[in-house]
Amino acid sequence: MIPITVVDVAAAEELVLQVLRSGAIAQGPMVKRFEEEFGKVAGVPHAVAVNNGTTALVASLQVLDLKPGDEVVTSPFTFVATLNAILEAGATARFADISEDDFNIDPDAVAGAVTPATKVLMPVHLYGQMADMGRLVPLAGEHGLAIVEDAAQAVGATFEGKPAGSFGLGCFSLYATKNITTAEGGVITTSDDTLADRLRVLRNQGMRQRYQYEVAGHNYRMTDVHAAIGIPQLEQLATITEARQRNAEALNKGLADITGLRTPQILPGRTHVWHQYTVLVTDDAPVSRDELAAKLTEKGIGNGTYYPKTVFDYDCYRDNPNVVISDVPVAERVARQALSLPVHPKLTDADLDAVVGAVREVLGA
Ligand SMILES: *Cc1c(COP(=O)(O)O)cnc(C)c1O
Repeated sequence: MIPITVVDVAAAEELVLQVLRSGAIAQGPMVKRFEEEFGKVAGVPHAVAVNNGTTALVASLQVLDLKPGDEVVTSPFTFVATLNAILEAGATARFADISEDDFNIDPDAVAGAVTPATKVLMPVHLYGQMADMGRLVPLAGEHGLAIVEDAAQAVGATFEGKPAGSFGLGCFSLYATKNITTAEGGVITTSDDTLADRLRVLRNQGMRQRYQYEVAGHNYRMTDVHAAIGIPQLEQLATITEARQRNAEALNKGLADITGLRTPQILPGRTHVWHQYTVLVTDDAPVSRDELAAKLTEKGIGNGTYYPKTVFDYDCYRDNPNVVISDVPVAERVARQALSLPVHPKLTDADLDAVVGAVREVLGA
């Protein structure tokens, strides 16, 4: 079996043992070191480590002081955490359709979705390629919107040379399967000194000095054990990303010009860090996406459907007044057609050949 994802944290053994032996296992110097390294990746002065990517999103919205009724415009084609974070923060989610070229929020659709109640634009940099920040940033400026990037899948990605997480508040996930992992973890990046300070206070029960509470806070802290898992990977980020890019290039080459298959593109001005390599099984294919997925699994080729439906299309959100359901035909179609194939750094040339060969065989190409 060629798995869709492989977790490799063996390089962290020494650093983790060092933390365990020290007995100081909660948030401490290792988290600080992790934050310093992560800030460099996002090209910003502040990185605030938290306990997961979902709380990174929640905390970011909380420090923006949203009131009930305030709206966040985001993508309908994302992991459910994006929506859950908006609801947790007490805001209302509104959706703008995506572009099938990058699977990200479409600036024209954003322009149509913004209302006087909109306070935040939350693009999701899906699969490791950034949204069209060249058009989204001016749009946010025009409407006075804060930008919160869901950069959970995009550590190290850039748009016109500017890293993911440098456009506002950048929210990253360090979950086990993400490009960089601490098992569970998250980071918020920002250039704003005041917001960074508020995030640090909020993360620690609203406490700046022991038992001096400034706001009603929370426990969003990361532990030194987890930070130690992530540090060696941060040092290897360029190598990890280059391996993913090499693999994606080989897949794009091997899977070019197949009827019924659309390979992913890298749009001009962007670097892609390939959290997922995702093809579209279009309606002229001899089999459906789900049939291709099942056949690949049979042949020992790992694959995944990220995501099978638009994020709000579940009974639990249907009657929620804070979820504004919209018409998003592109996202709906892409959710039916998208299939992710293995692109992780541990793939060998033989693995890549096997993936290409299996897809070609099932599609009769
Ligand atoms: C993983 C992910 C999250 C949530 O991160 P967790 O660390 O799992 O809480 C949020 N948004 C997107 C797009 C993700 O892929």
